[in-house]
Amino acid sequence: MYGKMKSNLANQLQDLENQKLYKHERIIESVQAAEITVKGKKVLNFCANNYLGLSSHPELVKAAHEMIDHRGYGLSSVRFICGTQDIHKQLEQKVSEFLGTDDTILFSSCFDANGAVFEPLFGADDAIITDALNHASIIDGVRLSKAKRWVYKHSDMRNVEEEDPTTGKLAKGLERCLIEADEAKCPYKVIVTDGVFSMDGDIANLKGICDLAEKYDALVLVDDSHSTGFMGKKGRGTAEHCGVVGRVDIITTTFGKALGGASGGCVSGHKEIIDWLRNRGRPYLFSNTVPPAVVGATLKALDILTKSTELRDRLEANTKKFRKEMTAAGFDIIPGEHPITPIMFGKYPNSSELAVTFANKILDEGIYVTPFSFPVVPRGKDRIRVQISASHTDEHLDKAIAAFIKIGKELKVV
Ligand SMILES: *Cc1c(COP(=O)(O)O)cnc(C)c1O
Repeated sequence: MYGKMKSNLANQLQDLENQKLYKHERIIESVQAAEITVKGKKVLNFCANNYLGLSSHPELVKAAHEMIDHRGYGLSSVRFICGTQDIHKQLEQKVSEFLGTDDTILFSSCFDANGAVFEPLFGADDAIITDALNHASIIDGVRLSKAKRWVYKHSDMRNVEEEDPTTGKLAKGLERCLIEADEAKCPYKVIVTDGVFSMDGDIANLKGICDLAEKYDALVLVDDSHSTGFMGKKGRGTAEHCGVVGRVDIITTTFGKALGGASGGCVSGHKEIIDWLRNRGRPYLFSNTVPPAVVGATLKALDILTKSTELRDRLEANTKKFRKEMTAAGFDIIPGEHPITPIMFGKYPNSSELAVTFANKILDEGIYVTPFSFPVVPRGKDRIRVQISASHTDEHLDKAIAAFIKIGKELKVV
């Protein structure tokens, strides 16, 4: 049998290669940090989700070591059989305090959290109303439930249905979807959104969403993976940033980005919802418990962020500086305030090749960034997505900006 599949896959892989869409992975030969080693050479990393510089922070590494010493390497069990330690309960409580919620349930990843949250809560008659640009794990999680689905045009709050010029298809605004879900007499309605959208770095209109949720009696679920730890003045996420703390019913998030970057995620929210997920969430019931080292380091990360806003403040200042100087240099940047800074190449000919060439050339200058092309982003929206970190020093930022300008001039982009 495999012969047939082998040649088929080989052809498809060759197609990807020909279209320059094959994902070649670069190998890092050091810890994850602002400065990393690639092919024996030190380069500055500008494409990690290491927003707060905690991925190799000495205090987190120490906390992980200590937790291995005290609670071991693994639990060899799901939570409900014999996989719950005191530290798992501590972390759930600490996350709840940090996010201002009743309770929290841990998962091995936010991908699992999103895979777990919809199916037990929303049945065939209910309505899931979801932003068109939500993360793949939300799309998959929603697919696992039998609920009715409405997809609203990205961040469009209006009561309209009109042709989307980018796709040529009809698209609805959120309020139109809510009205239709009302007309369909769905018992429960939930509006689902990423807090921050990872490709453009834009922030969901949570004020608008919460207002509409109140008007149409819907729940709100926010995936804050690209926000928890640094968005908002105390780093509590997009709810804090948008001034809607207490109005979001369910938050899902990851420990695999700003909070240390290893793995792990959670669903946080109302007590009964979390209790129900402990009893019905399939990736919780049928997948192994989060390892002690991860729990220990995540506890430490939250400790650091609760004591001081220094890291998120530094990240905010770094982001402002980078965005300001790159815009002044003439780069086409999607405006915003998030450390995700997309540098756009769509207005130049051969934009996807240009983005790849740019990324390769700037690596020779010691700056590590990744180009994104179709199908990860729409055609013509090719970009280099820079991600700023609190661990970047002023010198790192200056070196990166100078390298961008040098290669930008060489490739006639600025
Ligand atoms: C990264 C990300 C995830 C996946 O998180 P993991 O913990 O790595 O599985 C889920 N949702 C969003 C919005 C993300 O950005």
